[in-house]
Amino acid sequence: MKTIVKQMLLLLLFGVYQLAFSQSDYQVTVTDKDNIEVKATMFTRDNQIHLPIMATEGLSDGPAELIRNLRVTDANGKPISISGTKNNGNYFSWQLDTSNAKISIHYEIEMLHDQYNWPFGVEEISYRTSEGFMIIGRYLFIVSEWDDKNCSVSFNLPGSWQISSPWNTSTPGRYEGLSGLELRDNVLFIGNHQEEKVVIGDTELKLVLGPSLQEDKSKILEYLEPNMKAIGSLFGSAPRGSYLVVIQEGEVAGGAFNQSYSMMIEKPVNTASSALWGHGMIHETFHLWNGRGLVPSEQMEWFKEGLTEYMSIRIQAATGSQPRKIIEKKIETAYRRYFLSTMMGPPISLQEAGNNKNQNRMKIYGLGTFIALVLDVEIRHATANKKGIEEVLRLMYQEMALQGKGYNLNDVISYTNRVAGTDLTHLFNSYVTGTDVLKPNKYLAKGGLVLNTFYDDAYLSLLEGADELALNIGRHILGE
Ligand SMILES: [Zn+2]
Repeated sequence: MKTIVKQMLLLLLFGVYQLAFSQSDYQVTVTDKDNIEVKATMFTRDNQIHLPIMATEGLSDGPAELIRNLRVTDANGKPISISGTKNNGNYFSWQLDTSNAKISIHYEIEMLHDQYNWPFGVEEISYRTSEGFMIIGRYLFIVSEWDDKNCSVSFNLPGSWQISSPWNTSTPGRYEGLSGLELRDNVLFIGNHQEEKVVIGDTELKLVLGPSLQEDKSKILEYLEPNMKAIGSLFGSAPRGSYLVVIQEGEVAGGAFNQSYSMMIEKPVNTASSALWGHGMIHETFHLWNGRGLVPSEQMEWFKEGLTEYMSIRIQAATGSQPRKIIEKKIETAYRRYFLSTMMGPPISLQEAGNNKNQNRMKIYGLGTFIALVLDVEIRHATANKKGIEEVLRLMYQEMALQGKGYNLNDVISYTNRVAGTDLTHLFNSYVTGTDVLKPNKYLAKGGLVLNTFYDDAYLSLLEGADELALNIGRHILGE
């Protein structure tokens, strides 16, 4: 009995030791939207601390250049000097002159991110509004390791301020047990703003709308609800219980994170402009499943963006959120992007294009969307219109994402072949890893569709004289 107690005690102590070793604790003090101070205690294994880099003109070290007065001390409060810094392309590191594992760090952030032109826009970095500021966790928290399993953070905010985050807590302003991914890969809005809670299907959505978008709240929610429900039933379940969505007024753009997305939408918010803002919102919502739930184990930008874009179009067709002429136009635009990127861009494959997403956006989104359409038509034709590309996504989500497995190109090919019940590998060889020129009508005819093209000019319609199966596929794709 005594031995068992001893062993249990040892196990318990070991557990406490492990917990303590991986613990990073942050205290964020905000006096106003221009003054942010962070204090933290953490352990380093290699005497380095890091911040991810998104480089831009004027800031070659990215947001690390906006970190001010960084001071590091050991467990006894003795200063530790910074012996060097390094930019390795993906993240910026400070090398510490210490052999101590436990350190305290202290820094301020100069909130000037919105003064720079970022390759993916301020909505993916940080910006200030009249109510407060938005920041992506990774640019707020300097870390000592990337896979920390036990982070906690407290916020000291001005009286009327609050923090909107996708994290849950029973103590306002204090969050515990966050993984490094949850801490860094999420949108935070801090200010005297309003946060709306909406339940959509199995999901609780926290919505932060900028002051000028308050009057458009019901239009935005009415658009989001049916499409978000449709995405949830497509994948068979919601990946997580709660999400945060932060939307401000600005040129349409967006970025999706672990349990949150950040968007800009342009006024006026009406039916005509919903072809952009509504579509953008559904695209980012879709990423909460494809991109953040379903995660690739290798670079798979074409699948992440192309399938998301194609299925966002299809879902808005199915829910009737967009009329057929907009659905046709979006498919025509995908072809046009593909054509222009092929004529004007470098002669690289769709798979390779993802190695430089910013430079090859037109190809990734254009051909990515178009190849998703071609695969959908081929699967539908092979299964008498009983299954489509969404079945591939659903199976991958249920069998891989929910089991914590990352996917690669071979998984996409084998799931596609399994759902189609026929071998479609040649399509991937030709248009994903190969650079064959895509002649759309060779494939679209099976789906009762025809794309009339002249250079980049393209018009989609149902194919007159096509058989019943093909026409049913075409009508299904266009949402009829
Ligand atoms: Zn996207």
